[in-house]
Amino acid sequence: MIGVVGAGPAGSYMFYLLAKAGFKVALHEQHQVGERVVCGELVPKPCEIEDLIPDKAPLYGAFNLMSSLKVWLCEIKEMEVYLNERFWTSFGFQGYVMDKSLFLKNLVQMGVDEGGKLFERSRFQSLTKHPTLKAKFNDNVENLDFIIAADGYPSSVAKAANLESGYTLNDWALCVNQRMFNVNVNEQAVKIYFSAKVAPGGFAWIIPRGGKCANVGLGGRMKYVKEGFNVLTS
Ligand SMILES: Cc1cc2nc3c(=O)[nH]c(=O)nc-3n(C[C@H](O)[C@H](O)[C@H](O)COP(=O)(O)OP(=O)(O)OC[C@H]3O[C@@H](n4cnc5c(N)ncnc54)[C@H](O)[C@@H]3O)c2cc1C
Repeated sequence: MIGVVGAGPAGSYMFYLLAKAGFKVALHEQHQVGERVVCGELVPKPCEIEDLIPDKAPLYGAFNLMSSLKVWLCEIKEMEVYLNERFWTSFGFQGYVMDKSLFLKNLVQMGVDEGGKLFERSRFQSLTKHPTLKAKFNDNVENLDFIIAADGYPSSVAKAANLESGYTLNDWALCVNQRMFNVNVNEQAVKIYFSAKVAPGGFAWIIPRGGKCANVGLGGRMKYVKEGFNVLTS
């Protein structure tokens, strides 16, 4: 049995691929699938990023899979960039905004349809490697052949397996994202803000979701944040 921990995009896709390939696989998610999504939900079309990725087949495969799941909320055609709260420039940008919660639910359901087992509200606790691999989820101990750490950052599974990345909080951006309703935004344009006041060492965004709804958020890096900065008032 292969245990996948975490039903984010990585774990859900791995769960589906392994189930489809005929492996015995179980997905453990601490919440319900798609229940707590913190994300701007912006997905670039492959043409925007293919130069960055040497092997294009998986990129197009993943994008076509997302398209087949019918989770696009609106199509993005433009990126507007603001510097220190003033409009600076805009350029063409091809992408979609997705309903990520629905995407994860649909993807996991495909894995279940292929014979994978889903355990929701099943939180990884600990790991023993010898004499055999055993993982504890809530109060249950499971025998496993492999375990896949798809539990995001910081990964409890990686830590339990002594595979920590060595990154500290200073290497990462701290982010917030709120869904806002009844907002007047151009539904084909994403707005990005670079400003030491609003998002120190990072950027802020307004990403339309269609129907007068938008994801509004910001990410900043701790070493650039001055005393008194308040992420919510920002
Ligand atoms: C504010 C914000 C905005 C973003 N906006 C975008 C965007 O617009 N476009 C984009 O492409 N990317 C965006 N991202 C990045 C994107 O969300 C991540 O890259 C992606 O979610 C990472 O996927 P993952 O599967 O590796 O991990 P995660 O999505 O973090 O999933 C990890 C899963 O593991 C589960 N888990 C954790 N611990 C345990 C445990 N002990 N036991 C069981 N389950 C556990 C969690 O509940 C979670 O479901 C954004 C990120 C943030 C924070």
